[in-house]
Amino acid sequence: MKAGKRIFCTALILMAVAGAVFASASAEGVEKIRKAGVLKVGVKSDVPRFGLLNTATNQYEGMEIELAGLIAKEILGDAKKITFTPVTAKTRGPLLDNGDIDLVIATFTITEERKLTYNFSTSYYTDAVGLLVKKSSGFTGLQDMDGKTIGVAQSATSRAAIQQAADALGITVSFMEFATYPEIKAALDSGRVDVFSVDKSILNGYLDNECVILPDAFSPQEYGVASKLSNKELATYVEGLIQKWLTDGTLDGLIKKYGL
Ligand code: GLU
Repeated sequence: MKAGKRIFCTALILMAVAGAVFASASAEGVEKIRKAGVLKVGVKSDVPRFGLLNTATNQYEGMEIELAGLIAKEILGDAKKITFTPVTAKTRGPLLDNGDIDLVIATFTITEERKLTYNFSTSYYTDAVGLLVKKSSGFTGLQDMDGKTIGVAQSATSRAAIQQAADALGITVSFMEFATYPEIKAALDSGRVDVFSVDKSILNGYLDNECVILPDAFSPQEYGVASKLSNKELATYVEGLIQKWLTDGTLDGLIKKYGL
């Protein structure tokens, strides 16, 4: 072998070895979770029947919690080998990006834009954007809200959905953005906003005697299981499970069980 060729071959081999070392150091996928012995899932803690932290038992409950348990059972043989991290619309993406959690199962709507940043499974549930108002407001629907202020969460799909619906009705609304849902509810109670808007499932967690969720439903919200964009292996594995559970009735069973 000529010297030049030998150097070229050696360089290629070194690059291949470095690649393999790097790949194992940054290993993702199902095997990494098996090695860790635990599946880390970001869930909602304030969405009844989806992801709710029961303060009496200190246990999470809901359809998304059970779905997470089913995935843990497949990967680790035990639905309890799981740690739940409470997430918001604002924190769930960054928590996936920095590797704190393996999956997000937290009313996370699949959008074309978000698919550029995260892997999403096929949808396991479809919700819609709704409006929570004070009963005393007399509002019956979005058409009554010309000139009003709508409270929405940062990083949520709600603002765009309501803007689109308001444009279609030819009314003008303004928005106030908040980091968390309790803050929006407090702003509704104190009159800083006239309306609290997000998915109906989430609004259910903030319903009380003074308030009502209006019949309006905008922009279908398809919820998917999300993983870090680089973790294609985990995404493919989870997609296989979701497909299986869509076909064999497991997901339908969960939806019925939780009255969704
Ligand atoms: N599902 C909507 C979204 O993904 C509402 C926000 C939320 O899930 O908290 O933007």
